[in-house]
Amino acid sequence: MDTNGVDILSPDTIDNFALARERMAQELTRNGVTSVRVLNAMKKVPRHLFVSEALRYSAYNDVSLPIGFSQTISRPTTVGRMIQSLGLTGRERVLEVGTGSGYQAAVTAELADRVVSMERIEALHRRAKVTLLMTMNYRNIELYHTGAFSDIKGTFDAILVAACAPVMPEHLISLLNNGGRMLIPVEKGNSQVIKKFVRHDEEIVYEEEVGEAQFVPLVM
Ligand code: SAH
Repeated sequence: MDTNGVDILSPDTIDNFALARERMAQELTRNGVTSVRVLNAMKKVPRHLFVSEALRYSAYNDVSLPIGFSQTISRPTTVGRMIQSLGLTGRERVLEVGTGSGYQAAVTAELADRVVSMERIEALHRRAKVTLLMTMNYRNIELYHTGAFSDIKGTFDAILVAACAPVMPEHLISLLNNGGRMLIPVEKGNSQVIKKFVRHDEEIVYEEEVGEAQFVPLVM
């Protein structure tokens, strides 16, 4: 166990969960995640390394799990559906708002050219840094400790918002390339739905609903 509370497992230990990931992939398929690329990425990323040791054996159940600081790692089905609907080909530059544990960033990094992820809670940012950059050696992920969209430089082909927005964050739209797509959970009655928007020149066009979810609030 290192000082950030993430223990470093040997590749052997990581492999003990391969069967659990296979079963998770079958459940994802039943829940509408059918993209082979997305399923392969989710079969590869060791979700158990993104949760505390006590939750390790629940890591491949299709549930969201606590990651501390009143935040949660999303349910695999939600991660799979969101990433699938971005239609990533491997060439995209993607922004994730809400690194949390880093799990979704890892799955995205398997499918895109580059992932930039921002997290407002410093302890989560630091822990994700250890997991993604030191333990797993992802070279195409950049992590920032910030809650301000204006701190993020450059533009993106896709934006994944991993927290529920009270209102549409205008600044985020300006970070989208033309043709870029954004997935963002918003409140609908007493629940939440994930909405997909696509930028066409100066316009942001609503495309579809990607499913229901239960996200923590986006702090704006
Ligand atoms: N994608 C994560 C789950 C994220 S939970 C995973 O795979 O584990 C949502 C995260 O968004 C929380 O950690 C919360 O602190 C963060 N968050 C909320 N508002 C934010 C903001 N404005 N900027 C950056 N992070 C934010």
